[in-house]
Amino acid sequence: MFQSGMKIMEPRLRIEGLTRRFGGREVVRDVSLSIEAGQVSCLLGPSGCGKSTTLRLIAGVDWPDAGSIHVDGAPIVDGRARVPPEERGIGLMFQDFALFPHLTVAQNVAFGLPRKAAGRDERVRELLGRVGMTRHAEKHPHELSGGEQQRVALARALAPRPRIMLMDEPFSGLDDRLRDDIRDETLAVLKAEGTAVLLVTHEPTEAMRMADEILLMRDGRIVQAGAPYTIYNNPVDLPAAAFFSDLN
Ligand code: ADP
Ligand code: MG
Repeated sequence: MFQSGMKIMEPRLRIEGLTRRFGGREVVRDVSLSIEAGQVSCLLGPSGCGKSTTLRLIAGVDWPDAGSIHVDGAPIVDGRARVPPEERGIGLMFQDFALFPHLTVAQNVAFGLPRKAAGRDERVRELLGRVGMTRHAEKHPHELSGGEQQRVALARALAPRPRIMLMDEPFSGLDDRLRDDIRDETLAVLKAEGTAVLLVTHEPTEAMRMADEILLMRDGRIVQAGAPYTIYNNPVDLPAAAFFSDLN
């Protein structure tokens, strides 16, 4: 199957059979997916379908009842293997992201980097440039708009070069007016960084706009996976079609 000495390329993130029950109810049901470095996958589905629970299992703040999670081929959850959250190389961004109010923009971005890490200042400068916040480096969060705070939060999450970024409805706190621009900017930054991204959303528009692959979730299961327009044009069933008909 492969020549000796040649390694099979593992996806950045590989999940198989992930299942989580709360009080006998399966909230995440046999979820399997894989994401390559540089790829943005959107877990898309209505409120309550199990998206955030799935992310929490990957982040390591909750444990599955069954299934495995591998990062670059190494088990982080598999039988007894349980790598703690801080050793998973995973960055997180949530809707109610909070910047540290007493720290400057630059200090916020530097926060996740060891104080004596080589190239720390360069990394902060690079990220501030990437998110267009260089001239705001010495400001404090209260001096920034919502969109600017969002950019800083993205830079902060990416500073330690996470292998995987998990984003849970990260744009839902923003004005409608801002949201499309921030989505596009965020996507450009994620692509430039080349990390693997799993972005959770209940908005088809957002998934269509940002995803390389959409994972359509319902009642804890992934019911369809594919490229955005493939899914949009060939919904697997009537509920999937109805879900996408909200698209505007
Ligand atoms: P989504 O993010 O797609 O809106 P969630 O993953 O937050 O959905 O929740 C999926 C279902 O699991 C919901 O019915 C929710 O009430 C339930 N749930 C989530 N966390 C818990 C928990 N810790 N205990 C019991 N039920 C939970
Ligand atoms: Mg949620």
